[in-house]
Amino acid sequence: MTKLIFEKSNGVDGINITDGDVELNCIDKKFQRNKSLNLPQMSELEVLRHYKELSDKNFCIEKGFYPLGSCTMKYNPKVNEMLASLDGFTELHPLNEDSDCQGSIELMYKLQEALKVITGMDAISLQPAAGAHGELSGMMVIKKYFEVNGELTRKKVIIPDSAHGTNPASASMCGFEIVEVKSNEKGLVDVESLKSVLDKDVAAIMMTNPNTLGLFEENILEISKLMHDNGSLLYYDGANFNAIMGYTNPKLMGFDVVHLNLHKTFSTPHGGGGPGAGPIGVVEKLKDYLPVPIADFDGEKYFMSYDFKHSIGKVRNFYGNFGVLVRAYAYILMLGKNLKHVSEDAVLNANYLKEKLKGRYDLPYDYPCMHEFVLSGERQKEQGVSTLWIAKRLMDENTHPPTVYFPLIVHEALMIEPTESENKERLDEYVSAMIKIADEIECDSSIALNSPMNAPVKKIDETLAARKIDLRYKNEE
Ligand SMILES: *Cc1c(COP(=O)(O)O)cnc(C)c1O
Repeated sequence: MTKLIFEKSNGVDGINITDGDVELNCIDKKFQRNKSLNLPQMSELEVLRHYKELSDKNFCIEKGFYPLGSCTMKYNPKVNEMLASLDGFTELHPLNEDSDCQGSIELMYKLQEALKVITGMDAISLQPAAGAHGELSGMMVIKKYFEVNGELTRKKVIIPDSAHGTNPASASMCGFEIVEVKSNEKGLVDVESLKSVLDKDVAAIMMTNPNTLGLFEENILEISKLMHDNGSLLYYDGANFNAIMGYTNPKLMGFDVVHLNLHKTFSTPHGGGGPGAGPIGVVEKLKDYLPVPIADFDGEKYFMSYDFKHSIGKVRNFYGNFGVLVRAYAYILMLGKNLKHVSEDAVLNANYLKEKLKGRYDLPYDYPCMHEFVLSGERQKEQGVSTLWIAKRLMDENTHPPTVYFPLIVHEALMIEPTESENKERLDEYVSAMIKIADEIECDSSIALNSPMNAPVKKIDETLAARKIDLRYKNEE
Protein backbone atom coordinates (compact mmCIF):
# COMPACT_ATOMS: atom_id res chain seq x y z
CA MET A 1 0.00 0.00 0.00
CA THR A 2 1.24 3.49 -0.83
CA LYS A 3 2.15 5.88 1.93
CA LEU A 4 -0.96 7.81 2.94
CA ILE A 5 -0.89 11.52 2.16
CA PHE A 6 -1.79 12.51 5.70
CA GLU A 7 1.03 10.46 7.21
CA LYS A 8 3.45 13.10 8.42
CA SER A 9 5.44 11.45 11.17
CA ASN A 10 9.17 12.07 10.74
CA GLY A 11 10.39 10.37 13.89
CA VAL A 12 11.47 13.62 15.52
CA ASP A 13 10.94 13.56 19.26
CA GLY A 14 8.21 16.08 19.92
CA ILE A 15 8.13 16.15 23.69
CA ASN A 16 10.48 17.16 26.40
CA ILE A 17 9.57 15.28 29.53
CA THR A 18 12.18 14.25 32.07
CA ASP A 19 12.15 10.68 33.30
CA GLY A 20 9.23 10.07 35.60
CA ASP A 21 9.51 8.85 39.15
CA VAL A 22 7.61 5.62 38.51
CA GLU A 23 9.85 2.63 39.05
CA LEU A 24 9.38 0.41 36.03
CA ASN A 25 10.13 -2.74 37.99
CA CYS A 26 7.04 -2.15 40.15
CA ILE A 27 5.04 -3.35 37.11
CA ASP A 28 4.88 -7.08 36.70
CA LYS A 29 7.17 -8.26 33.88
CA LYS A 30 4.33 -9.83 31.96
CA PHE A 31 2.52 -6.49 31.74
CA GLN A 32 5.54 -4.50 30.63
CA ARG A 33 5.76 -3.37 27.03
CA ASN A 34 8.65 -5.02 25.23
CA LYS A 35 8.70 -2.96 22.08
CA SER A 36 8.08 0.68 21.27
CA LEU A 37 4.49 1.85 20.74
CA ASN A 38 5.39 3.25 17.34
CA LEU A 39 3.34 6.40 17.73
CA PRO A 40 3.65 9.21 15.17
CA GLN A 41 6.24 11.79 16.17
CA MET A 42 6.86 15.36 15.09
CA SER A 43 8.03 18.55 16.74
CA GLU A 44 5.43 20.62 18.59
CA LEU A 45 5.44 23.34 15.92
CA GLU A 46 4.93 20.83 13.10
CA VAL A 47 2.00 19.29 14.97
CA LEU A 48 0.40 22.72 15.32
CA ARG A 49 0.93 23.40 11.61
CA HIS A 50 -0.66 20.07 10.79
CA TYR A 51 -3.84 20.86 12.72
CA LYS A 52 -3.98 24.44 11.43
CA GLU A 53 -3.70 23.14 7.88
CA LEU A 54 -6.51 20.65 8.50
CA SER A 55 -8.75 23.35 9.96
CA ASP A 56 -8.03 25.63 6.98
CA LYS A 57 -9.25 22.87 4.67
CA ASN A 58 -12.45 22.57 6.63
CA PHE A 59 -15.46 24.72 5.76
CA CYS A 60 -17.47 26.46 8.49
CA ILE A 61 -20.08 29.19 8.81
CA GLU A 62 -17.37 31.64 9.89
CA LYS A 63 -15.75 31.11 6.49
CA GLY A 64 -18.74 31.56 4.21
CA PHE A 65 -22.38 30.94 3.31
CA TYR A 66 -23.55 27.48 4.40
CA PRO A 67 -27.06 26.82 2.98
CA LEU A 68 -27.12 23.08 3.71
CA GLY A 69 -30.87 22.45 3.57
CA SER A 70 -32.54 20.72 6.52
CA CYS A 71 -29.37 21.18 8.61
CA THR A 72 -29.96 24.80 9.71
CA MET A 73 -26.31 25.83 9.67
CA LYS A 74 -26.92 29.13 11.43
CA TYR A 75 -24.38 31.29 13.20
CA ASN A 76 -23.42 29.87 16.61
CA PRO A 77 -23.11 32.95 18.86
CA LYS A 78 -19.77 33.08 20.66
CA VAL A 79 -21.43 34.14 23.90
CA ASN A 80 -22.84 30.58 24.08
CA GLU A 81 -19.28 29.26 24.18
CA MET A 82 -18.22 31.70 26.89
CA LEU A 83 -21.10 30.68 29.12
CA ALA A 84 -20.70 26.95 28.52
CA SER A 85 -17.05 27.18 29.51
CA LEU A 86 -17.69 28.72 32.94
CA ASP A 87 -15.89 26.70 35.62
CA GLY A 88 -19.11 26.03 37.49
CA PHE A 89 -20.37 24.06 34.50
CA THR A 90 -17.22 22.45 33.17
CA GLU A 91 -15.84 21.29 36.51
CA LEU A 92 -19.04 19.71 37.72
CA HIS A 93 -18.93 15.95 38.20
CA PRO A 94 -22.05 14.13 36.99
CA LEU A 95 -22.07 11.98 40.13
CA ASN A 96 -22.39 15.01 42.43
CA GLU A 97 -25.38 15.09 44.74
CA ASP A 98 -28.26 17.25 43.49
CA SER A 99 -27.64 19.60 46.41
CA ASP A 100 -24.15 20.32 45.06
CA CYS A 101 -25.26 21.25 41.55
CA GLN A 102 -28.37 23.33 42.09
CA GLY A 103 -27.38 25.86 39.41
CA SER A 104 -27.01 23.25 36.69
CA ILE A 105 -30.29 21.53 37.53
CA GLU A 106 -31.99 24.93 37.63
CA LEU A 107 -30.65 25.64 34.15
CA MET A 108 -32.04 22.35 32.85
CA TYR A 109 -35.37 22.97 34.56
CA LYS A 110 -35.67 26.43 33.03
CA LEU A 111 -34.66 25.12 29.61
CA GLN A 112 -37.41 22.49 29.89
CA GLU A 113 -39.89 25.25 30.80
CA ALA A 114 -38.81 27.37 27.82
CA LEU A 115 -39.12 24.42 25.42
CA LYS A 116 -42.60 23.75 26.81
CA VAL A 117 -43.63 27.27 25.82
CA ILE A 118 -41.97 27.01 22.40
CA THR A 119 -43.50 23.62 21.52
CA GLY A 120 -46.77 23.84 23.49
CA MET A 121 -45.99 20.43 25.01
CA ASP A 122 -46.75 19.59 28.66
CA ALA A 123 -43.47 17.90 29.61
CA ILE A 124 -39.93 17.73 28.22
CA SER A 125 -37.03 15.32 28.63
CA LEU A 126 -33.60 16.68 27.74
CA GLN A 127 -31.96 13.25 27.64
CA PRO A 128 -31.66 12.29 23.93
CA ALA A 129 -28.34 13.21 22.33
CA ALA A 130 -29.43 13.85 18.72
CA GLY A 131 -32.45 14.29 16.50
CA ALA A 132 -32.60 10.66 15.47
CA HIS A 133 -32.09 9.66 19.11
CA GLY A 134 -35.06 11.86 20.03
CA GLU A 135 -37.13 10.13 17.35
CA LEU A 136 -36.19 6.73 18.69
CA SER A 137 -37.03 7.79 22.27
CA GLY A 138 -40.33 9.35 21.14
CA MET A 139 -41.34 6.24 19.23
CA MET A 140 -40.45 4.12 22.29
CA VAL A 141 -42.82 6.32 24.30
CA ILE A 142 -45.57 5.70 21.74
CA LYS A 143 -44.92 1.97 21.68
CA LYS A 144 -45.01 1.69 25.47
CA TYR A 145 -48.18 3.81 25.67
CA PHE A 146 -50.07 1.34 23.49
CA GLU A 147 -48.59 -1.63 25.37
CA VAL A 148 -49.70 -0.24 28.73
CA ASN A 149 -53.15 0.44 27.27
CA GLY A 150 -53.44 -3.08 25.91
CA GLU A 151 -53.60 -2.01 22.26
CA LEU A 152 -51.03 -4.52 21.12
CA THR A 153 -52.13 -4.70 17.49
CA ARG A 154 -51.06 -1.13 16.75
CA LYS A 155 -47.88 -2.02 14.89
CA LYS A 156 -47.93 0.36 11.92
CA VAL A 157 -46.45 3.83 11.58
CA ILE A 158 -47.39 6.04 8.64
CA ILE A 159 -44.61 8.16 7.14
CA PRO A 160 -44.88 10.56 4.16
CA ASP A 161 -42.63 9.93 1.14
CA SER A 162 -40.99 13.34 1.72
CA ALA A 163 -39.76 12.38 5.22
CA HIS A 164 -36.20 12.53 6.47
CA GLY A 165 -34.62 9.06 6.31
CA THR A 166 -34.22 8.91 10.08
CA ASN A 167 -38.03 8.74 10.53
CA PRO A 168 -38.57 5.28 9.00
CA ALA A 169 -35.26 4.13 10.52
CA SER A 170 -36.29 5.14 14.06
CA ALA A 171 -39.78 3.68 13.79
CA SER A 172 -38.51 0.42 12.40
CA MET A 173 -35.79 0.15 15.08
CA CYS A 174 -38.69 0.28 17.53
CA GLY A 175 -40.26 -2.69 15.80
CA PHE A 176 -42.95 -0.80 13.90
CA GLU A 177 -43.97 -1.62 10.35
CA ILE A 178 -43.63 1.40 8.03
CA VAL A 179 -46.48 2.45 5.76
CA GLU A 180 -45.59 5.12 3.22
CA VAL A 181 -48.09 7.82 2.27
CA LYS A 182 -47.69 9.77 -0.96
CA SER A 183 -47.40 13.52 -1.37
CA ASN A 184 -49.85 15.28 -3.67
CA GLU A 185 -49.08 17.66 -6.55
CA LYS A 186 -48.64 20.50 -4.06
CA GLY A 187 -45.91 18.60 -2.19
CA LEU A 188 -48.16 17.99 0.83
CA VAL A 189 -49.42 14.78 2.46
CA ASP A 190 -52.28 13.51 0.32
CA VAL A 191 -55.24 13.27 2.71
CA GLU A 192 -57.15 10.76 0.56
CA SER A 193 -54.11 8.44 0.41
CA LEU A 194 -53.76 8.81 4.15
CA LYS A 195 -57.38 7.78 4.69
CA SER A 196 -56.85 4.71 2.53
CA VAL A 197 -54.04 3.38 4.75
CA LEU A 198 -55.56 4.32 8.08
CA ASP A 199 -56.87 1.42 10.15
CA LYS A 200 -56.94 0.23 13.77
CA ASP A 201 -53.42 -1.20 13.50
CA VAL A 202 -51.92 2.26 13.01
CA ALA A 203 -50.04 3.48 16.10
CA ALA A 204 -48.91 6.84 14.75
CA ILE A 205 -47.97 9.12 11.90
CA MET A 206 -44.56 10.82 11.86
CA MET A 207 -44.63 14.22 10.19
CA THR A 208 -42.35 17.18 9.61
CA ASN A 209 -44.08 20.54 9.36
CA PRO A 210 -42.92 22.53 7.48
CA ASN A 211 -41.99 19.42 5.54
CA THR A 212 -38.66 18.73 3.87
CA LEU A 213 -39.77 20.63 0.75
CA GLY A 214 -40.01 23.69 3.01
CA LEU A 215 -43.80 23.72 2.62
CA PHE A 216 -46.33 24.07 5.41
CA GLU A 217 -48.71 21.11 5.66
CA GLU A 218 -51.88 23.17 5.47
CA ASN A 219 -54.16 20.19 6.08
CA ILE A 220 -52.56 19.41 9.39
CA LEU A 221 -55.71 20.01 11.47
CA GLU A 222 -57.73 17.65 9.28
CA ILE A 223 -54.92 15.08 9.50
CA SER A 224 -54.63 15.29 13.28
CA LYS A 225 -58.38 14.88 13.66
CA LEU A 226 -58.35 11.82 11.39
CA MET A 227 -55.50 10.27 13.39
CA HIS A 228 -57.01 10.98 16.81
CA ASP A 229 -60.45 9.75 15.73
CA ASN A 230 -58.68 6.53 14.79
CA GLY A 231 -57.09 6.31 18.26
CA SER A 232 -53.61 6.94 16.79
CA LEU A 233 -50.93 9.42 17.89
CA LEU A 234 -49.02 12.10 15.97
CA TYR A 235 -45.24 12.43 16.11
CA TYR A 236 -43.69 15.77 15.13
CA ASP A 237 -40.16 15.80 13.71
CA GLY A 238 -39.13 19.23 14.97
CA ALA A 239 -35.51 19.06 13.79
CA ASN A 240 -36.30 22.08 11.63
CA PHE A 241 -38.17 24.38 13.99
CA ASN A 242 -36.62 27.51 12.56
CA ALA A 243 -39.66 28.62 10.54
CA ILE A 244 -42.44 28.60 13.12
CA MET A 245 -41.12 29.85 16.46
CA GLY A 246 -43.58 32.18 18.12
CA TYR A 247 -46.11 31.76 15.30
CA THR A 248 -47.47 28.31 15.91
CA ASN A 249 -46.44 25.10 17.64
CA PRO A 250 -46.96 21.35 17.35
CA LYS A 251 -49.57 21.33 20.14
CA LEU A 252 -51.79 23.73 18.19
CA MET A 253 -51.40 21.45 15.17
CA GLY A 254 -52.54 18.43 17.19
CA PHE A 255 -49.24 16.60 17.76
CA ASP A 256 -48.64 14.39 20.81
CA VAL A 257 -44.86 13.84 20.74
CA VAL A 258 -42.16 16.20 19.48
CA HIS A 259 -38.41 16.23 19.20
CA LEU A 260 -36.26 19.31 18.68
CA ASN A 261 -32.70 19.58 17.45
CA LEU A 262 -30.97 22.06 19.75
CA HIS A 263 -28.01 21.77 17.36
CA LYS A 264 -30.05 23.22 14.52
CA THR A 265 -32.69 25.76 15.54
CA PHE A 266 -31.13 26.62 18.91
CA SER A 267 -27.70 27.52 17.58
CA THR A 268 -25.44 24.94 19.18
CA PRO A 269 -22.56 23.86 16.95
CA HIS A 270 -22.92 20.75 14.82
CA GLY A 271 -21.36 18.94 11.94
CA GLY A 272 -18.47 16.54 12.05
CA GLY A 273 -20.36 14.23 14.36
CA GLY A 274 -19.94 16.49 17.38
CA PRO A 275 -22.33 16.44 20.33
CA GLY A 276 -25.96 17.44 19.83
CA ALA A 277 -29.15 17.32 21.81
CA GLY A 278 -32.59 16.11 20.72
CA PRO A 279 -34.98 16.80 23.62
CA ILE A 280 -38.45 15.32 23.37
CA GLY A 281 -41.72 16.82 24.49
CA VAL A 282 -45.08 15.13 25.05
CA VAL A 283 -48.67 15.96 25.89
CA GLU A 284 -50.01 15.36 29.40
CA LYS A 285 -51.19 11.76 28.89
CA LEU A 286 -47.69 10.65 27.80
CA LYS A 287 -45.79 12.45 30.57
CA ASP A 288 -45.26 9.32 32.65
CA TYR A 289 -43.51 7.59 29.75
CA LEU A 290 -40.65 10.05 29.23
CA PRO A 291 -37.02 8.96 29.56
CA VAL A 292 -35.50 9.88 32.95
CA PRO A 293 -34.16 11.79 34.76
CA ILE A 294 -36.06 15.05 34.36
CA ALA A 295 -35.15 18.26 36.19
CA ASP A 296 -37.78 19.35 38.69
CA PHE A 297 -38.35 21.99 41.38
CA ASP A 298 -40.24 21.51 44.65
CA GLY A 299 -40.56 25.22 45.45
CA GLU A 300 -37.32 25.21 47.45
CA LYS A 301 -34.75 23.12 45.68
CA TYR A 302 -34.06 21.66 42.28
CA PHE A 303 -33.69 17.91 41.85
CA MET A 304 -33.45 15.22 39.18
CA SER A 305 -36.65 13.22 39.19
CA TYR A 306 -36.82 9.51 38.33
CA ASP A 307 -40.38 9.16 39.50
CA PHE A 308 -42.30 8.38 36.32
CA LYS A 309 -44.55 5.34 36.40
CA HIS A 310 -44.20 4.10 32.82
CA SER A 311 -40.85 5.68 31.90
CA ILE A 312 -39.08 4.05 28.98
CA GLY A 313 -36.03 4.30 31.26
CA LYS A 314 -32.68 5.83 30.49
CA VAL A 315 -31.59 6.59 26.93
CA ARG A 316 -28.37 8.43 27.78
CA ASN A 317 -25.98 8.50 30.72
CA PHE A 318 -26.12 11.23 33.36
CA TYR A 319 -27.75 14.52 32.22
CA GLY A 320 -27.55 14.10 28.45
CA ASN A 321 -25.20 16.43 26.59
CA PHE A 322 -25.13 19.10 29.26
CA GLY A 323 -22.76 21.53 27.49
CA VAL A 324 -25.14 21.65 24.54
CA LEU A 325 -28.04 22.41 26.87
CA VAL A 326 -26.16 25.39 28.35
CA ARG A 327 -25.53 26.85 24.89
CA ALA A 328 -29.15 26.43 23.78
CA TYR A 329 -30.42 28.00 26.99
CA ALA A 330 -28.08 30.97 26.48
CA TYR A 331 -29.47 31.41 22.96
CA ILE A 332 -33.09 31.28 24.12
CA LEU A 333 -32.43 33.74 26.96
CA MET A 334 -30.59 36.09 24.65
CA LEU A 335 -33.49 36.25 22.20
CA GLY A 336 -36.53 35.74 24.41
CA LYS A 337 -39.65 36.83 22.52
CA ASN A 338 -37.42 37.85 19.60
CA LEU A 339 -37.19 34.16 18.65
CA LYS A 340 -40.16 35.12 16.55
CA HIS A 341 -37.96 37.41 14.46
CA VAL A 342 -35.55 34.53 13.84
CA SER A 343 -38.36 32.68 12.11
CA GLU A 344 -39.47 35.79 10.21
CA ASP A 345 -35.98 36.40 8.84
CA ALA A 346 -35.33 32.73 8.05
CA VAL A 347 -38.55 32.53 6.04
CA LEU A 348 -37.94 35.89 4.33
CA ASN A 349 -34.40 34.90 3.31
CA ALA A 350 -35.54 31.57 1.87
CA ASN A 351 -38.33 33.17 -0.16
CA TYR A 352 -35.97 35.88 -1.42
CA LEU A 353 -33.49 33.31 -2.73
CA LYS A 354 -36.26 31.15 -4.19
CA GLU A 355 -37.71 34.05 -6.16
CA LYS A 356 -34.28 35.16 -7.43
CA LEU A 357 -33.31 31.66 -8.57
CA LYS A 358 -36.48 30.13 -9.92
CA GLY A 359 -36.01 31.60 -13.39
CA ARG A 360 -32.68 29.81 -13.86
CA TYR A 361 -33.32 26.50 -12.07
CA ASP A 362 -36.48 24.40 -12.05
CA LEU A 363 -38.69 24.86 -9.00
CA PRO A 364 -40.98 21.81 -8.92
CA TYR A 365 -43.20 23.13 -6.11
CA ASP A 366 -43.70 26.81 -6.83
CA TYR A 367 -45.39 28.03 -3.64
CA PRO A 368 -44.36 30.43 -0.88
CA CYS A 369 -41.86 28.46 1.24
CA MET A 370 -40.95 28.41 4.90
CA HIS A 371 -37.31 28.16 6.05
CA GLU A 372 -36.03 26.37 2.93
CA PHE A 373 -36.93 25.43 -0.64
CA VAL A 374 -36.00 22.73 -3.11
CA LEU A 375 -34.83 23.41 -6.65
CA SER A 376 -34.26 20.75 -9.30
CA GLY A 377 -31.17 20.59 -11.50
CA GLU A 378 -33.14 18.76 -14.20
CA ARG A 379 -32.59 21.52 -16.81
CA GLN A 380 -28.83 21.54 -16.18
CA LYS A 381 -28.75 17.75 -16.32
CA GLU A 382 -30.16 17.89 -19.84
CA GLN A 383 -27.24 20.20 -20.65
CA GLY A 384 -24.82 17.53 -19.42
CA VAL A 385 -24.24 18.60 -15.80
CA SER A 386 -25.95 16.74 -12.99
CA THR A 387 -26.68 18.28 -9.60
CA LEU A 388 -23.60 16.71 -8.04
CA TRP A 389 -21.37 18.89 -10.23
CA ILE A 390 -23.36 22.05 -9.53
CA ALA A 391 -22.67 21.35 -5.86
CA LYS A 392 -18.96 20.81 -6.59
CA ARG A 393 -18.78 24.02 -8.63
CA LEU A 394 -20.32 26.01 -5.77
CA MET A 395 -17.33 25.06 -3.62
CA ASP A 396 -15.21 27.30 -5.85
CA GLU A 397 -17.47 30.21 -4.91
CA ASN A 398 -16.63 30.10 -1.19
CA THR A 399 -19.99 28.60 -0.27
CA HIS A 400 -20.90 25.23 1.12
CA PRO A 401 -22.99 23.21 -1.37
CA PRO A 402 -26.69 22.86 -0.62
CA THR A 403 -28.11 19.47 0.39
CA VAL A 404 -28.39 17.43 -2.81
CA TYR A 405 -30.55 14.48 -3.92
CA PHE A 406 -32.86 14.94 -0.94
CA PRO A 407 -35.84 14.92 -0.53
CA LEU A 408 -36.11 11.83 -2.71
CA ILE A 409 -39.34 12.94 -4.39
CA VAL A 410 -37.52 15.72 -6.31
CA HIS A 411 -35.21 14.64 -9.15
CA GLU A 412 -31.75 16.23 -9.03
CA ALA A 413 -32.78 18.04 -5.83
CA LEU A 414 -30.93 21.10 -4.51
CA MET A 415 -32.26 21.89 -1.05
CA ILE A 416 -31.36 25.42 0.03
CA GLU A 417 -31.70 26.83 3.57
CA PRO A 418 -30.10 30.25 4.05
CA THR A 419 -31.18 30.69 7.74
CA GLU A 420 -31.72 34.08 9.36
CA SER A 421 -27.98 34.63 9.84
CA GLU A 422 -27.26 36.03 6.38
CA ASN A 423 -27.65 39.63 5.22
CA LYS A 424 -28.91 40.75 1.81
CA GLU A 425 -25.40 41.29 0.39
CA ARG A 426 -24.48 37.65 1.10
CA LEU A 427 -27.72 36.38 -0.36
CA ASP A 428 -27.14 38.46 -3.50
CA GLU A 429 -23.61 37.09 -3.81
CA TYR A 430 -25.05 33.60 -3.68
CA VAL A 431 -27.65 34.41 -6.32
CA SER A 432 -24.86 35.73 -8.58
CA ALA A 433 -22.83 32.55 -8.05
CA MET A 434 -25.80 30.30 -8.85
CA ILE A 435 -26.65 32.32 -11.97
CA LYS A 436 -23.02 32.35 -13.10
CA ILE A 437 -22.96 28.56 -12.85
CA ALA A 438 -26.23 28.22 -14.79
CA ASP A 439 -24.76 30.52 -17.50
CA GLU A 440 -21.53 28.54 -17.63
CA ILE A 441 -23.35 25.25 -18.01
CA GLU A 442 -25.28 26.64 -20.99
CA CYS A 443 -21.98 27.50 -22.77
CA ASP A 444 -19.52 24.88 -21.61
CA SER A 445 -20.37 21.93 -19.37
CA SER A 446 -16.69 21.05 -18.86
CA ILE A 447 -16.14 23.84 -16.34
CA ALA A 448 -18.56 22.37 -13.81
CA LEU A 449 -17.46 18.83 -14.62
CA ASN A 450 -13.87 19.75 -13.72
CA SER A 451 -14.73 21.45 -10.46
CA PRO A 452 -13.90 22.07 -7.70
CA MET A 453 -10.73 23.78 -8.86
CA ASN A 454 -9.49 24.91 -5.44
CA ALA A 455 -10.37 22.06 -3.09
CA PRO A 456 -7.67 19.59 -1.97
CA VAL A 457 -9.70 16.65 -3.32
CA LYS A 458 -11.96 16.76 -6.35
CA LYS A 459 -14.34 13.95 -5.55
CA ILE A 460 -13.86 11.26 -2.99
CA ASP A 461 -14.87 7.68 -3.66
CA GLU A 462 -17.88 7.71 -1.37
CA THR A 463 -18.58 4.00 -1.69
CA LEU A 464 -15.05 3.06 -0.72
CA ALA A 465 -15.03 5.63 2.09
CA ALA A 466 -18.25 4.22 3.54
CA ARG A 467 -17.65 0.51 3.01
CA LYS A 468 -13.91 0.13 3.54
CA ILE A 469 -13.22 2.79 6.09
CA ASP A 470 -9.98 2.19 7.94
CA LEU A 471 -9.03 4.68 10.60
CA ARG A 472 -6.11 2.73 12.10
CA TYR A 473 -2.77 4.44 12.33
CA LYS A 474 -0.19 2.86 9.98
CA ASN A 475 -2.52 0.37 8.44
CA GLU A 476 0.20 -1.01 6.21
CA GLU A 477 1.79 -2.80 9.16
C1 LIG B 1 -31.42 16.71 10.91
C2 LIG B 1 -32.72 16.07 10.85
C3 LIG B 1 -32.98 14.89 11.61
C4 LIG B 1 -31.94 14.13 12.38
O1 LIG B 1 -31.22 14.84 13.33
P1 LIG B 1 -29.79 14.30 13.82
O2 LIG B 1 -29.43 15.16 14.98
O3 LIG B 1 -28.86 14.43 12.67
O4 LIG B 1 -29.95 12.87 14.23
C5 LIG B 1 -34.27 14.40 11.56
N1 LIG B 1 -35.23 14.97 10.82
C6 LIG B 1 -35.00 16.08 10.08
C7 LIG B 1 -36.13 16.69 9.28
C8 LIG B 1 -33.74 16.66 10.06
O5 LIG B 1 -33.51 17.74 9.31
